[in-house]
Amino acid sequence: MTPKRYIIDIDGTICSHDTPSTPYSQARPIKDRIAFFNTLHDAGHKIIYWTARGGDSGVDHSELTKKQLDEWGAKRTELRMGKPPYDYWIDDKAFNVKDFFMTDITTGETTTLTP
Ligand SMILES: [Mg+2]
Repeated sequence: MTPKRYIIDIDGTICSHDTPSTPYSQARPIKDRIAFFNTLHDAGHKIIYWTARGGDSGVDHSELTKKQLDEWGAKRTELRMGKPPYDYWIDDKAFNVKDFFMTDITTGETTTLTP
């Protein structure tokens, strides 16, 4: 098995974050998704959480985010801050979180809904 590198968003992907004005401290973990990525991590894949928290405000949310990932048990290779805020993400390798969980948990291979 060739280890895969997963770049994973945080808010709205592994935790609920209701509105842009909701404090990040009120984010709540989505446990089954965190468990899914933990399984990939334990299988040897690289799990990189990348967030745009603070990208508009300039506030450093890195300590809170690290604390939350630890409390939620989100295993990871790396936590990266500094993702640019965006409205649309266009990428030939991107999956919408609602479509992603087609990944084969043993091999890390994914299939896409559109060929
Ligand atoms: Mg998000």
